[in-house]
Amino acid sequence: MEFGQESAKLVDNLRYQGIGKKVLDAMLLVPRHLFVPTQLRGEAYIDTPLPIGYNQTISAPHMVAIMCDLLDLGEGQNVLEVGTGSGYNAAVMAELVGRTGHVYSVERIAPLAGFAKNNLMDAGCANVTVMLEDGSGGDFPHSPYDRICVTCAAPEIPQPLIEQLKPGGLMVIPVGVASQQLYLVKKDADGTIHKEIKGGVVFVPLVGRFGFSDD
Ligand code: SAH
Repeated sequence: MEFGQESAKLVDNLRYQGIGKKVLDAMLLVPRHLFVPTQLRGEAYIDTPLPIGYNQTISAPHMVAIMCDLLDLGEGQNVLEVGTGSGYNAAVMAELVGRTGHVYSVERIAPLAGFAKNNLMDAGCANVTVMLEDGSGGDFPHSPYDRICVTCAAPEIPQPLIEQLKPGGLMVIPVGVASQQLYLVKKDADGTIHKEIKGGVVFVPLVGRFGFSDD
């Protein structure tokens, strides 16, 4: 594969950072250069966020790896992503849930939803559906979800997203105004919610009804 060696080197570095094997294997299968603007392809396998237009970024590979690892994604799961962006994180999650699973990904900026759809098609990723909507609230098709991955930072965890998590489900979400923390949210079989802080992060804002305002 074009960029194969660079991709293997990047994934090797993530291995030394303690990322689990199934996430590393999935990342090896998803060509990140197909998810960045053409002029940035040469930088696709550097472990850094890159601009994708509209003041948004594709997350750094280590951040995608950490979120996927925390979510403990597996075959057959029904997943919601809020913040499609380039579609890259959705594609990695789609590898992890396999053909019997599906990723529903919500994006609020129309041209980015289009960019992601094209990228996912070019990468041959069939089990992702991109939806153009405000993902901070809403009642999305195929809810409730086994897993929810929010890739933009919310002022607080939106209640509608907690409601769309299945009992036994997991959500990762960056939360914070001045500084942000990555939360892992667990919903027990009886519906009790547990929240754990997993560390400081930097994400673009979740803009919407249950997020930050647009101005
Ligand atoms: N997961 C992406 C990262 C994208 S950055 C990737 O792999 O490339 C976060 C994205 O969240 C941006 O594209 C931004 O437009 C989107 N976003 C922000 N608020 C949103 C909302 N309320 N609903 C849906 N998408 C939102």
